[in-house]
Amino acid sequence: MKQIKRLSGGVLLCMAFAASSAWAEPGHEWGYSGDHGPAHWGAISKDFHACESGRAESPINIESAKKAPTDMPRLKINYQPLPIDISNTGHSVQFNAAPGTDSISLGGHAYQLVQFHFHAPGEERFAGNASVMDAHFVHRADDGKLLVLAVQFKLGAQANPVIQALLDRIPHEKGAELVASGVAINPLDLLPGNPGYYTYSGSLTTPPCSEGVTWIEFKEPVTITPQQLHAMEAFYHGNQRPVQALNGRDIWDVE
Ligand SMILES: [Zn+2]
Repeated sequence: MKQIKRLSGGVLLCMAFAASSAWAEPGHEWGYSGDHGPAHWGAISKDFHACESGRAESPINIESAKKAPTDMPRLKINYQPLPIDISNTGHSVQFNAAPGTDSISLGGHAYQLVQFHFHAPGEERFAGNASVMDAHFVHRADDGKLLVLAVQFKLGAQANPVIQALLDRIPHEKGAELVASGVAINPLDLLPGNPGYYTYSGSLTTPPCSEGVTWIEFKEPVTITPQQLHAMEAFYHGNQRPVQALNGRDIWDVE
């Protein structure tokens, strides 16, 4: 059920009480602490089995990586401006991408951008350390395969204009979605200048923890101010799954 409010200036506010949000499903609530925390996800629903028994889970700690062979396919990004459509999902702040607009390709396979969302602190660890915040750009191919681009944030004096445009519009109520059709951001402006990344095969970091997800972890962080970080943390802080065992998986270093 969706209750949509039209605000002035062409802004739509959707109060989405949709069953697709796991936090709203009676008996299947999951979170980041206590009985609903990551250690219990596998027991909350049979659909979340991989959270407990998976052998190729995410996030991971990246201690070292193998230099990628020169014939390994390189990432190509085809992002363009998108109207702001932002949700407070109950687990994170999530930007919903207009379907069929923004895509990436890897080795001749196209993936459409579906959404991006934030974790604070960042979920990935680099030599044991997490960044202050990350963004996960979730893409899906026609065959259902998922690819996530991860960007890390660091603190600096320079305000991040995309983060600010989102911060000004994030709904405070869990389950709410705000569509500001007259305002656009380009997700490209959230990516670092240096294209270098680590890549490995992992999983969703939230239930149902499905595996077979290609992860691309940009090495260079982008900057937000301490004020912007605190404003983001006021929505969600600690939505970070613990590090998962590597179990012999390869991590590739792509220049
Ligand atoms: Zn994520």
